[in-house]
Amino acid sequence: MIKYDPKSLKAEEFINDEEIKDTLKYADENKDNLELVDSILKKARERKGLSHREASVLLACDNKEKIEEMYDLAEQIKKDFYGNRIVMFAPLYLSNYCVNGCLYCPYHQKNKNIPRKKLTQEEVKKEVIALQDMGHKRLAIEAGEDPVNNPIEYILDCIKTIYSIKHKNGAIRRVNVNIAATTVENYRKLKEAGIGTYILFQETYHKESYEYLHPTGPKHDYNYHTEAMDRAMEGGIDDVGIGVLFGLDKYRYEFAGLLMHAEHLEAVHGVGPHTISVPRVKRADDIDPNDFDNSLSDEMFCKIAALIRIAVPYTGMIISTRETPEIREKIIRLGVSQISGGSRTSVGGYAEEERPHDTEQFDVSDNRTLDEVVNWLMRAGYIPSFCTACYREGRTGDRFMSLCKAGEIQNCCHPNALMTLKEFLMDYASSDTRKIGEELIEKEIDNIGKEKVKEIVRERLVKIENGERDFRF
Ligand code: SAM
Repeated sequence: MIKYDPKSLKAEEFINDEEIKDTLKYADENKDNLELVDSILKKARERKGLSHREASVLLACDNKEKIEEMYDLAEQIKKDFYGNRIVMFAPLYLSNYCVNGCLYCPYHQKNKNIPRKKLTQEEVKKEVIALQDMGHKRLAIEAGEDPVNNPIEYILDCIKTIYSIKHKNGAIRRVNVNIAATTVENYRKLKEAGIGTYILFQETYHKESYEYLHPTGPKHDYNYHTEAMDRAMEGGIDDVGIGVLFGLDKYRYEFAGLLMHAEHLEAVHGVGPHTISVPRVKRADDIDPNDFDNSLSDEMFCKIAALIRIAVPYTGMIISTRETPEIREKIIRLGVSQISGGSRTSVGGYAEEERPHDTEQFDVSDNRTLDEVVNWLMRAGYIPSFCTACYREGRTGDRFMSLCKAGEIQNCCHPNALMTLKEFLMDYASSDTRKIGEELIEKEIDNIGKEKVKEIVRERLVKIENGERDFRF
C-alpha cells in the first residue's frame, strides 16, 4: 500500500488513492452528522480554509439548511477577500497540433476532421491586435502538445511577440500559459519570459481513469503530469493554476484530489495554487460529452464552487465561457474571481470577422462580446478589472498571499480595478457601458480604505482621461 504524505514529491503519495477513498467513506459516514457539519462550518467561518476531509463532508451533506449556510458563507468569504471585483481575461489558441490521444479533446492526434493550424508570429500579432482592440490586457495562451510543431522555443517566441505589440492604447500586460507538463528547464525559460501564472489542469486525479482517458502520447504518464507543478515551482514559477475537467470521473473523488493537490503545494512550497479552474467537458468536433457518464448537475457544480471558495479562501477561482451566462452569474456570486470574456477557442479565431468553428477546442456557451460581458457584470454589481499589477510589482507566490491575508487588497486591488476599468471605458466601451462604468467608478472610489489612496486615484483618473495609461499600486 502506498502511504499518504502531502509533503512527498511522488504523485501517488500526495494524491493518494487510499486516502481519497477513506475520505469519501468518512464523508459518507458523517454526512448526516450535523454536529460535525456545524463544527466544520464554524471552522470555515474563521476563513483559514478546510482540509480535504472536512470539505468532503460538506460536499456529501445534503441537508438543505446546511447547504444554504455553505452558500451564504462562500458568498461572504468571496466578498471579504475579493470584494466585488472580477478579473477579465481571454484565451489565445496558438496551435492545435497535438501528439496526445486525450479522449475528451478534439485536438487529439487521430482526429482527421479538423485542419491543423499553428499561428505564425505575424498571425499572433493579428490576434493580439484584435484582442487589444476588444480591451483585453491579460491572456491565457493555449497549445496542444507537440515537441516538433510547438516546441518551447515556439511558445517563447509567441510570448515575446505578444508582449511587444503596442497597438493604439492597447497592451497585453500579463500572459498566463496553459501548455502541457514540461521540464524544470522549460519552466525556467517560461519564468524568464515573464509569464504570469502557469496553468495545467489535472483533468482527473483518478490514476486509472487518467490512463484510460490519455491512452497515447506523453500525457499518458500520470506521475509526470501530476508532479508538473512541483517542477514549475522548482523552475521559479510561484503562481500556478490547477484544475479538474469535471465530467471525466466522479466529482467527489476529483474534489478531494484537487484540495489534496492544493495542500501538497502549500506543504512543500509554502504557497498554494494561485488559481483553481473548474471547467466541465463540452461538446466539440468529434467529442460528445454524453460519452462520459460522470457529468455533473448545475446544482452540484455550484456547490463545488462554493466549497472551493470556503476550503481555499485565498485562491482565485476561474470560470470560462464553457458555461452559460446564467451559470456564470450564479457561480460568480459563490466565489469565482476571474472570468474570460469575448472568447474564441479556435486557432486564429480573433482576427476573423465571424466566429470560426473548424478548429474550436470546445463549443462556447457564452457568446457575448467583451463589452457586453463588462456591461452585464457592472449591472450585476461587479467591477470588471483589467488589473495585471501583482506580478509586475513582484507580488507573486507567498507575497501575493500575504497581501491578501493582511486585508491590503482594498487599498491595492480595488483602486487598480477602478483605474483599469477606466482605461477600458475610455478606449473600448460602448456609450452605454461607459455611462454605467463612470457611475460605478464614482461610487466605488468611496470604498477605498485610505484617504491618501483615494486622492491619488482621483488624480490618476483625470490623467487617464487625458490620455495617460498603465497606473498601478
Ligand atoms: N494541451 C495542454 C495540456 O495538455 O494540458 C493544455 C491546453 S488545452 C487547450 C486546455 C484544457 O482544455 C485542457 O487541459 C482540458 O482540460 C480542456 N479541454 C479539452 N477538451 C475539452 C472539452 N471537450 N471540453 C471542455 N474542455 C476541454
